[in-house]
Amino acid sequence: MLQQTTVKAVGPYFEKFLARWPDVSALGGADLEDVLRMWAGLGYYSRARNLHACAVTVLREHGGVFPDTEEGLRKLPGIGPYTAAAIAAIAFDRQTMPVDGNIERVTTRLFRIEEALPQAKPQIQVLAATLLGPSRAGDSAQALMDLGATICTPKKPACSLCPLNEDCAARERGDQETFPRKAAKKTGALRRGAAFFVVRGDDLLVRSRPAKGLLGGMTEVPGSDWLAGQEDEEALAQAPELGGVKRWHRKLGVVTHVFTHFPLELVVYTAKVPARTRAPDGMRWVPIATLDGEALPNVMRKVVSHGLGE
Ligand code: SF4
Repeated sequence: MLQQTTVKAVGPYFEKFLARWPDVSALGGADLEDVLRMWAGLGYYSRARNLHACAVTVLREHGGVFPDTEEGLRKLPGIGPYTAAAIAAIAFDRQTMPVDGNIERVTTRLFRIEEALPQAKPQIQVLAATLLGPSRAGDSAQALMDLGATICTPKKPACSLCPLNEDCAARERGDQETFPRKAAKKTGALRRGAAFFVVRGDDLLVRSRPAKGLLGGMTEVPGSDWLAGQEDEEALAQAPELGGVKRWHRKLGVVTHVFTHFPLELVVYTAKVPARTRAPDGMRWVPIATLDGEALPNVMRKVVSHGLGE
């Protein structure tokens, strides 16, 4: 229940759920519809379906008794490697370390693991397992999770309070906040394009982007494609057909914007058209004064302020 959901939101559901289905046999014998009804409002309904399917499997294939090994648990519906390790350690005292994000951070700092995530995961798993005590694996895991959540935090870890500080390689070097290492984001090649800023009296020519894809359905100043290595002339050739436009005026400078996957550079061309000029198909005029009410993405706000600038 706690996946993606806070303890506060889960509390009342958890109590009602356990009051109605106090053990795995009760849940395995329940109607899926009833389980889903009880879950209503908590969201992520696949959790309820998996929980029910898991109880049914435990009841039918394991005589109502949970498998007590990691491998056995992994075969149950809805239980992945992390959950299997967590149940095996916490419920069955198996010598295994369930590695969550907190344990990942603590381990990469303690051992100064240079390899970046996610490639480092197998190494983290092996080194985290060396932190298990001789018994009570569940307690070791929960202690490390709590250490990560409260002391070895992503920013400004409270190392002076940390019971492991004397053995911490990253602390010794003073670079603990740089762990875990993360692979640098791959940014794509610079894309270039043009935006056509057409004014008719107090109106600006705009259109809506296609519903699917980048900035889907949002409003934009008409423009060319955004392509890597595109020359200005190629972009200019994609200007909208407007009878009244004799020539496009190129604004000085460019608008730059960085999307998650690529940086963009736009040249802005401006033109003024006579009153009553009709908008080309798929485009429309909006009063410049009401642009704030349009779904203009940041990159287009930059284009508008560049186009309006002297
Ligand atoms: S000494 Fe600091 S960086 Fe190292 S494990 Fe403890 S809190 Fe984390």
